[in-house]
Amino acid sequence: MSEPVDTSRVFKQPVLCVSCDEAFYFTLSSIVENQELVCPQCGERINLRDETYLPLVATIREVIGVIKKSYVAPLERPVDRSADH
Ligand SMILES: [Zn+2]
Repeated sequence: MSEPVDTSRVFKQPVLCVSCDEAFYFTLSSIVENQELVCPQCGERINLRDETYLPLVATIREVIGVIKKSYVAPLERPVDRSADH
């Protein structure tokens, strides 16, 4: 039994920890599903509701929307037959 891969749980995005001033990778789903993350280095909470992270969270929501759409959209490959003789 194989489950379809949820890309948002695979793709990662760096999130800046203001305490360490370093970015750490979190999965897209963890970023949009949580209101805060815990920095793996210093253990500080990263408040995703802070306006610092609003653009990032908004972008990731868009990306996930695109990923979900691409699951259902048929893959269109225009066939170029003009080179056929
Ligand atoms: Zn940190």
